[in-house]
Amino acid sequence: QKARRILETARDDGRLGVEATPLLEAYGIPTPESDVVGSPNEAVQVAEGIDGDVVMKIVSPDILHKSDIGGVRVGVTQDDVRDVYEDLVSRARSYQPDADVLGVQVQETVGVDDGVETIVGFSRDPQFGSLVVFGLGGVFVEVFEDTSFGIAPVTDTEAREMVDGIDASPLLHGARGSQPVDTEAVVETAERVSALASDFPSILELDINPLVASADGVSAVDLRLTVD
Ligand code: ADP
Ligand code: MG
Repeated sequence: QKARRILETARDDGRLGVEATPLLEAYGIPTPESDVVGSPNEAVQVAEGIDGDVVMKIVSPDILHKSDIGGVRVGVTQDDVRDVYEDLVSRARSYQPDADVLGVQVQETVGVDDGVETIVGFSRDPQFGSLVVFGLGGVFVEVFEDTSFGIAPVTDTEAREMVDGIDASPLLHGARGSQPVDTEAVVETAERVSALASDFPSILELDINPLVASADGVSAVDLRLTVD
């Protein structure tokens, strides 16, 4: 019910981002602690409630790739929160003066250094139905095009095959002396995304990029979806 209400808040073009975070949570997909704020003061308050440095991101339906315009700042200390807020908003304005800026997201830092950035999502295909996709995420997603697919509803076995099916899967299992990531949590996330695809026909497309996978589990750091 709540989920449906969230989907109804999509704009005319059907796009949703951070607003849809509760949808992931409702499906048991972990997300970092975070809040969207509308002023530097509020940003400071939220940052104070989060342990350690925070990540701050511009929230605007007109800005699809936040980092392309310098709209993502990682490692922000408490002292810098105010300045970074102003900076993010002014970057958005200079990128597109009439951009609809909804605010700034203040988010807990997820350990991407000892984790692997992956992508999990789905799209609708006229021929195959709901295509669940898994692959390497972050900056690598376009470079390597290393992805695997399943058709919703994916079974546990299929989800496992998807996760083990990318060329880079040794990375997940601890290549180069790094700790193996919790692949069980990644598999579970693929299944949950598959369930979302089946339960909400009005969602045309969903992308979690990155889903950070580490030895401690997974965390959905960025989310984008399109509704009918
Ligand atoms: P966009 O895809 O719109 O550019 P993201 O939210 O995906 O924005 O952030 C871009 C990159 O910044 C991520 O791929 C990740 O490397 C880093 N990042 C974003 N959020 C966090 C976070 N909470 N903790 C650590 N790194 C983050
Ligand atoms: Mg992203």
